Amino acid sequence: MRALVTGGAGFIGSHLVDHLLGLGHDVVVLDDFSTGSMANLAGVADRVITVRGSILDETAVEEATDGCDTVFHMAAAVGVRTIVNRPLESLHKNLRGTETVLEAAVRHGARLLLASSSEVYGKNTKDGLGEDDDRVLGSPLKSRWSYAAAKGLDELMAYCYWERHGLRAVMVRPFNIVGPRQTGHYGMVVPTLVEQALTGRPLTVHGDGNQRRCFCAVGDVVPALVALVTDVRAHGRVFNLGSTEEVTIRELAKRVLRVTGTRGPIVHVPYEEAYGPGFEDMARRTPDTSRARELIGFRPRTSLDEVIAAVAADRRVHLHAGLRGADGRHRTDVV
Ligand code: NAD
Repeated sequence: MRALVTGGAGFIGSHLVDHLLGLGHDVVVLDDFSTGSMANLAGVADRVITVRGSILDETAVEEATDGCDTVFHMAAAVGVRTIVNRPLESLHKNLRGTETVLEAAVRHGARLLLASSSEVYGKNTKDGLGEDDDRVLGSPLKSRWSYAAAKGLDELMAYCYWERHGLRAVMVRPFNIVGPRQTGHYGMVVPTLVEQALTGRPLTVHGDGNQRRCFCAVGDVVPALVALVTDVRAHGRVFNLGSTEEVTIRELAKRVLRVTGTRGPIVHVPYEEAYGPGFEDMARRTPDTSRARELIGFRPRTSLDEVIAAVAADRRVHLHAGLRGADGRHRTDVV
């Protein structure tokens, strides 16, 4: 396989690059380094062709796709904070950028995996969301929902290119993926809580903390991306990928304290304070992953405590190196 990974310098993308190289494949990365980092590719930089460019740049996408038989489209504007603060730029990336990548994949006859998101389900709190379940979204003018709106359209676009142009496209909806290299800069809860614990600050929980989520280790998800895109039975279909181990955010904060051996207080921050007035969140989000399990045997194996420990080990290294903490300030007082 010669694979293009858009967003390959990002959190999930860089783990995917490692996995592809481990399988003996050739890898090209296209990334504008807006949220990704060369440090994520430090261990493999000499084995990867890295193109610094945007998915919005047709020439860069064309050059990066040339000679590739598989495209993993991971690049996107990601994170609640990014989307709320920069809604128009995020829409451009997540719509026009995706269309540019889809068209290049069609021109080069490459198969494609599209990273959509569990956000497409919006406020549907059903126990075990299935791929065909309804989406419950707030007003499109609330920037909170613009990411879900764009990812939903991305899926539809990929589906239409499959139907119309024979693009061998697979869509996946990851549910809260966590692990080393994820940072708290864009509102990701696990690295934020871990960095707060390690630097002796209060752990901030939004709202009453009773909102429930399922966190899945990146190492459990990445092999599924490769298994799905290479399976002809997956083409033209969408798959949930995530863990079914549910936890409240308050319980998550307590687990972070336990796993990191720290004792900081847990403080509650109203959503309005964190994200501005009118911010909406969903009470729970649990996937039904039976479709991926039946097709490729997808079954997450890493426990939440193991993931927290892995994130803590990674963040300790970064914090000790004097890199930025979740709030952007430099920290040296690491526990
Ligand atoms: P990330 O921010 O670490 O990775 C995104 C990468 O895309 C970064 O390296 C960034 O620099 C790059 N990028 C952004 N805009 C670009 C552009 N215009 N051109 C080229 N590169 C660009 O985020 P992630 O968590 O690794 O997410 C990867 C994908 O998975 C995204 O599509 C995201 O929507 C999806 N996803 C992630 C999660 C999760 O829990 N992490 C959940 C659902 C969906």
